[in-house]
Amino acid sequence: MIYLDNHATTRVAPEVLTAMLPYFTEEYGNAASVNHAYGWRAAEAVERAREQIARLLNCPAEWIVFTSGATEANNLAIKGLRRKGTPARPSGEGTGRSALPTSFVTNAAEHPSVLDVAKRLKRQGVAVTILPVDRNALVDPQQVADAIQPETALVSVMLANNEVGTINPVAEIDRICRERGVLLHCDAVQAVGKIPVDLQQLPVDLLSLSAHKFHGPKGVGALVVRRSGPRIQLEPLFDGGGHEQHLRSGTLPVPLIVGFGAACELANDAIVSLQMAALRDSLWQGLQSELEGLSLNGPPLAERLPNNLNFSIAGVDGEALMSSLKEIAVSSGSACSTAEPEPSHVLRAMGVSDSLSRASLRFGLSRFTTKAEIDAAVAEVMRAVRKLRA
Ligand code: PMP
Repeated sequence: MIYLDNHATTRVAPEVLTAMLPYFTEEYGNAASVNHAYGWRAAEAVERAREQIARLLNCPAEWIVFTSGATEANNLAIKGLRRKGTPARPSGEGTGRSALPTSFVTNAAEHPSVLDVAKRLKRQGVAVTILPVDRNALVDPQQVADAIQPETALVSVMLANNEVGTINPVAEIDRICRERGVLLHCDAVQAVGKIPVDLQQLPVDLLSLSAHKFHGPKGVGALVVRRSGPRIQLEPLFDGGGHEQHLRSGTLPVPLIVGFGAACELANDAIVSLQMAALRDSLWQGLQSELEGLSLNGPPLAERLPNNLNFSIAGVDGEALMSSLKEIAVSSGSACSTAEPEPSHVLRAMGVSDSLSRASLRFGLSRFTTKAEIDAAVAEVMRAVRKLRA
């Protein structure tokens, strides 16, 4: 079976596995053990990984807070800020604004780990604005500006969408938030390793990432917390040993963190991104030349993540299509919500009809995807669709 579901998760790269293995076997110390060399070596490995991640993101290492993944990072960013009541950004008219975020602005194409937090905040009395997105799942910076109220303390906008690969104008949204003294959180999970994510160029306040989306292990991620200009303060989600600058208690998963660091060394390779885009383009061309009735979901290919393709197939039943695709692992929406039989909330927000949403396929390529696999995928989709249409 050919794996083309790399937005859901990716294969651990061999270099990553090799880096991790000693930390499962010989170097199994607790990074918080200060009394012996096992602990010291584990702590050194964690700090090395922190440096590797910081280098990739172009930020100070002390801004990195390890979490179990991006779901936790997104929760920590939004709930932690609400509980703490971080002051607004010092510049602009937001100076001195009420500390507790009583209004939160996000958008309809975010991942459930942001949208479900927004729903919970709403139940708790926070004024939540869920902005619409356009037919390409793009957030309009002007709509963000218009939605910011005097009591708004936080905006959350993803850098790249996990279903249709849309790349949001986060730098522009960041400028707006800065001018208005509002903090900005960015879910950069799908962007890291595919497009540059540089915190000097994109000076957001809080940024989430997850190792398993770019050939690191599952179960580890980070929230990047800006520590100057302004210094963001959060309340932890749980109490305990005070690890990670008291923001995330719990014994650090040293092997996973080492793998996360190693994955960062491989990420941000412009040549790999170009190769993925070329293969993705040939996948789309191959399918279009063989099949009628395909419609692209999301922005033009040149404007989206280099590894994403999402399209609908007119005149076929979505469920029958998925069950007849035996040779390729792809997704018909977000893998994170497969328990939900509803059509994708992202496609719905883009205005795609429910029947076309159900008959949609999401392909996610990786650095390991080959031309032979793409050719086989074209043949497999052709076979399945022709059979269903016969
Ligand atoms: N945000 C986005 C955009 C995602 O694609 C995902 C994973 N599907 C997450 C957050 C959650 O990440 P994790 O699996 O690390 O909890």
